[in-house]
Amino acid sequence: MSGKIFRIGQGFDTHRLMEGRRLILGGVEIPHPKGLAGHSDADVLIHALIDALLGAAGLGDIGEFFPDTDPAYKDISSSILLRQVHLKLHKEGWEIVNIDATLILEKPKLLPFKRQIIASLAEVLCTSDHLISLKAKTAEKMGALGREEGIAALVVVMIQKRES
Ligand code: MG
Repeated sequence: MSGKIFRIGQGFDTHRLMEGRRLILGGVEIPHPKGLAGHSDADVLIHALIDALLGAAGLGDIGEFFPDTDPAYKDISSSILLRQVHLKLHKEGWEIVNIDATLILEKPKLLPFKRQIIASLAEVLCTSDHLISLKAKTAEKMGALGREEGIAALVVVMIQKRES
């Protein structure tokens, strides 16, 4: 008898907000006076999503795949990294069941961009928009996130493959 194997994974990431950088979340540029600092485009949402996918598949973490000391990844679009990770899982027979993501940020308000971010992630992952959930929360002005010093992302994914 052959069935399906399911695995879940979780990912977390934070990046600092600073002037002179573009704000990219889920592959979408969001108009804002500050952007996220990092070696790549610092797309905190995609980084947490990559870690969730790698974690679910038992393949390690983003730092092992894309070291931030490697000049090849300087200012790279994280959507490209996500596509590579998705391809790796796909080759091992994994399919995405669903993704549930939460961004923690005081500003800007994400509601006007949510559909676009979901569509952007769905396109990279060759999956449907309805399998991706994105929520935005504030930190109620508490701590570093509450002072708008950075943005954090939490992502949970479920993946499945046919038992061989
Ligand atoms: Mg990161």
